[in-house]
Amino acid sequence: MILLDGKLLSAQIKQEIAADVAQIKTEGGKIPHLVAILVGTAGRSETYVASKMKSCEEVGMHSTLIRFDDDVTEADLLAAVAEVNANPDMDGLIVQLPLPKHINPDKVMETIAPEKDVDGFHPVNIGRMAKGLPAYVSATPQGILEMLKRYDIPTSGKHCVVVGRSQIVGLPMSILMQRNDYPGNCTVTLTHSKTTNLAEICRTADILIAALGRPEFITANMVKDGAVVIDVGLERVEDATKKSGFSLKGDVKFDEVAPKTNYITPVPGGVGLMTICSLMQNTVKAARREVYK
Ligand code: NAP
Repeated sequence: MILLDGKLLSAQIKQEIAADVAQIKTEGGKIPHLVAILVGTAGRSETYVASKMKSCEEVGMHSTLIRFDDDVTEADLLAAVAEVNANPDMDGLIVQLPLPKHINPDKVMETIAPEKDVDGFHPVNIGRMAKGLPAYVSATPQGILEMLKRYDIPTSGKHCVVVGRSQIVGLPMSILMQRNDYPGNCTVTLTHSKTTNLAEICRTADILIAALGRPEFITANMVKDGAVVIDVGLERVEDATKKSGFSLKGDVKFDEVAPKTNYITPVPGGVGLMTICSLMQNTVKAARREVYK
């Protein structure tokens, strides 16, 4: 079994991004600038955004955090998005999800200019990605592709089972794994909470991508010998042995599944770190106008 080491890969990728940014600086080009909008202080969003901002700093990119209270109106939030859209110094914009219930996330995503949508959530980017046109690809699926590529894992002709059909992970992942490219060319099965024979389907997976948000749901009896297992799940589970009172768990019961696999991602230290790298790579592309000329 080989551990797909997100810590190692993300450190390498960050060095590559830092070198890109340094080169842009030397050439007198525009330093990539990522803007994050954060609403409220609840949940883990604050930690996620802080680590995105810190990563930008580490690679020499500019970053700006725009904060709103929980009771911000949808109109004010949309106005802030429009301001970032119009600011030529700001290359990429992310609005951290989830948003409070009174704000429609689709409306917010659709207001972000597609050329600044470095999270790849705008329908234009999702549509372009599905058609195989240049697009910002959603950060987590892109990070997973990068992982498969850097570990040289064969994908052509394999059966890939994706568990979870969210707009930000499962659905784009399933589209990317079937495309005529590497990584890709898989036969893909996309499963969800209404799938009746999930364990049976998972057992046929050469590549199993779990993105359902149910800690340790995927057990050894759901995994084929020699499979590649990618665990996207990241949930806090109460743990009295930890000072914080919780530990982070993935969707896969790692201890019993890992010995059956050829490759597996740990949690933490796997997919999550790759996600932040993808976001920064997309922001560099945005500053260089690589996707939208
Ligand atoms: P989500 O929007 O809640 O979607 C979960 C999906 O899983 C849904 O499609 C749901 O089916 C399906 N599902 C739920 N229970 C199921 C079950 N028992 N059997 C089969 N399918 C089931 O979640 P998400 O945003 O994609 O996130 C999933 C997990 O990944 C979470 O733990 C999240 O924290 C983590 N995550 C990690 C990163 C990272 O960078 N590491 C990034 C994003 C998300 P229905 O559609 O039928 O409801």
